[in-house]
Amino acid sequence: MAEIHEVACPACGYGYYVSKVVFRVKDFACICPKCKHEFRPEESIGDMERGEQG
Ligand SMILES: [Zn+2]
Repeated sequence: MAEIHEVACPACGYGYYVSKVVFRVKDFACICPKCKHEFRPEESIGDMERGEQG
């Protein structure tokens, strides 16, 4: 099954889900569905370092 990861737009803070595959794609750009800002997955604001619980 596909793993998903939450990303949050660094421009407007809108959060949404993308496949974890995007983190393995070189120079992949997420496009915020709300404001159309393009950003790298690793630029996402949020809790990427948080553990699986909580
Ligand atoms: Zn945005």
